[in-house]
Amino acid sequence: MKLDVDVLRYLSKDDFRVLTAVELGMRNHEIVPAELIDRIARLKHGGTYKVLKNLLKHKLLHHDSTKYDGFRLTYLGYDFLAIKTMVNKGVFVSVGRQIGVGKESDIFEVADEDGKIMAMKLHRLGRVSFRAVKSKRDYLKHRSSYNWLYLSRLAALKEFAFMKALQTHGFPVPEAVEHNRHCVIMSLVQGYPLVQVKQLQNPETVFETIIGIIIRLAEHGLIHCDFNEFNIMIDDEEKITVIDFPQMVSVSHRNAKMYFDRDVECIFKFFRKRFNMTFQESIDDNDNSNEGREEAGKLCFSSIDSSAGFLDKELAASGFGKKDEEDIQRFIEGEVESDTNSDSEDGDLVRNLNEADDLNVDSLHLSEQVIYPLAFVVIQDPLAMGNGMCYLF
Ligand code: ADP
Ligand code: MG
Repeated sequence: MKLDVDVLRYLSKDDFRVLTAVELGMRNHEIVPAELIDRIARLKHGGTYKVLKNLLKHKLLHHDSTKYDGFRLTYLGYDFLAIKTMVNKGVFVSVGRQIGVGKESDIFEVADEDGKIMAMKLHRLGRVSFRAVKSKRDYLKHRSSYNWLYLSRLAALKEFAFMKALQTHGFPVPEAVEHNRHCVIMSLVQGYPLVQVKQLQNPETVFETIIGIIIRLAEHGLIHCDFNEFNIMIDDEEKITVIDFPQMVSVSHRNAKMYFDRDVECIFKFFRKRFNMTFQESIDDNDNSNEGREEAGKLCFSSIDSSAGFLDKELAASGFGKKDEEDIQRFIEGEVESDTNSDSEDGDLVRNLNEADDLNVDSLHLSEQVIYPLAFVVIQDPLAMGNGMCYLF
């Protein structure tokens, strides 16, 4: 997806205030009535409709007049809110090229004041389900309407919390720098996804390292659940970094063994195919008829001592609670669409934006009443730089 941040430099305080008003309104409405946006935003000098038109022109909003005159955020609009908040906090100052695209995320380079390049992951967790929601709009009423906002935000928070906890425990993961809304900033991993690597100096060592990580994760009470050649980065020294954590589960999950075996099998399969590695017979499985099973049998889930425990404390410290985990798992496993945002009245939303002026983004807790900061600076002296980075102020 294209992320034209150039536009961001030309947006005014009022533009962002109205954009935030739409975001708030989406807590209660899939399509936020224009009249409500105006009431939430309360622009000092009026002119909400003109601002809405401008935001629409830049594709930050979508207009829908099927039932009434209303608007909703587009991904780009949501991206801009997150990016703007982070830029205001000084996390980064410019956005560069796209370095990754997944089914449910887009990844870009960003740089801070000192020119240090980092990775920005924008989660799109509800991307598919959002369309489904849309087609069933009447049936779902407003309860699931903010589905993609909520889920993408939850995915980002989970990713950030897990990355931080894993880092604390010495796992080779990117450094978790910051998160806001559906966006996570992390250190840039040097190297390439393993899937792009055709040859290794020491395939056995790399293989053992990777399997070692799976075991150590399980010893800490965790299973990655998407542990494959796409989510393992490797550099020229053949050093491994694991990425992509929104789907991780605890070893106490009811399908833990299945997820664990699947992760292990993925690695065995990849190394056998790509690097022609052969594996000895299973030590605890005499059935040679099924190769995958035989290989995975070498690593028996039940024999792993996970007494080191789930990293509860660290995760909770990052604001990722039990209920968040339940919500995101329900979605990942396709059971239901989220309806977890609290049912606030429109009147609450109007009040929220007024209070929000003084609020710090760090106080944002997903499972509670969400209030967004509005500390937007006016962009001055825009500079388009020649190094591929687009400066944001
Ligand atoms: P998804 O959930 O969409 O699979 P990933 O986190 O796996 O997203 O990222 C997709 C791709 O983006 C990765 O395969 C990798 O090439 C790139 N990428 C992600 N995070 C980083 C990072 N921290 N540093 C460098 N590249 C990254
Ligand atoms: Mg991935």
